[in-house]
Amino acid sequence: MQCIRTLRSYLLLLMTKTGIGVTEWINEMNRIPYYAILSGFEPGDIPGVGTFYDFFKRLWAASGNNLKPNKQKRKRKPKKGKKGEKALTTTPGKVKRLVEWVIRHAAKKTDLPSDRLFHFFQTQILTLSAKLGLLGDMNALSAAGDGTPFVTAAYPRSKSTCSCRAQGLADCNHPRIYSQPDCDSGWDSAREKYFNGYHLYMISAADSRYDLPMYPRLQPASRHDSVSLVVSAVEFKQRFTLGTVEKMLLDAAHDAEAIYHLIDHQNIEPFIDLNSRSKKNTKTSGDIHAKLKNIKNRPLP
Ligand SMILES: [Zn+2]
Repeated sequence: MQCIRTLRSYLLLLMTKTGIGVTEWINEMNRIPYYAILSGFEPGDIPGVGTFYDFFKRLWAASGNNLKPNKQKRKRKPKKGKKGEKALTTTPGKVKRLVEWVIRHAAKKTDLPSDRLFHFFQTQILTLSAKLGLLGDMNALSAAGDGTPFVTAAYPRSKSTCSCRAQGLADCNHPRIYSQPDCDSGWDSAREKYFNGYHLYMISAADSRYDLPMYPRLQPASRHDSVSLVVSAVEFKQRFTLGTVEKMLLDAAHDAEAIYHLIDHQNIEPFIDLNSRSKKNTKTSGDIHAKLKNIKNRPLP
């Protein structure tokens, strides 16, 4: 029961006081009994910060604040995209190898720290949306996949582990200590600038008026849309139990032969914008490409 109240209280915090921390929220509930009552607490009997943090730990199945180690190789910025164009996957070979790997290993589900959160999201939120008809036809869903920048910091913070700089050596390749090791720098093609943080990749319900998210997933900022799609599509397929996805809509950043292959392998029909820059790299083989040429820029239903 305490768990439900804590969750309810935290959701209330997110809805009403974006930007404040748990400590301040507890002060707020003490000051304004209204917030405590809405949370389900007795005014004057509000739990401490520890209750909240113990609860958060139960939602995330990993110990430690970060998934990656703080000590990492010096990170390079990814390449800029061309002006006004979606960045083409810089390494089609990488996407191809990744797709081949995930198809070989698709039967084996790996546990993710985010699984408890997704389980909660699916059973308590998606199920309700599905029942209300907000996601579309559950037996023939149309899903769309796209990434968006998720900025966490203006500058990446890191400390050196060596004394190269002090010695005047410019060419240093020693590892550094990063304070946010799961984040890095990415290229925001819409705003044409670099950003630091995550790449939020979302699989959403496209065949409804609401475009509700079905599988939100944080990836490193430097990750290309096509790589994120591969990771998300496989994870989603293994976890989503509420219906069947029939169509997958993706933008031109995903126009790589390996992506068609993966989506096809999942028994889903791919609809992908053609990337004018990829024509010279991609062999127009197979009937999928021929089929898709006709439905270029197909508007979302
Ligand atoms: Zn060094």
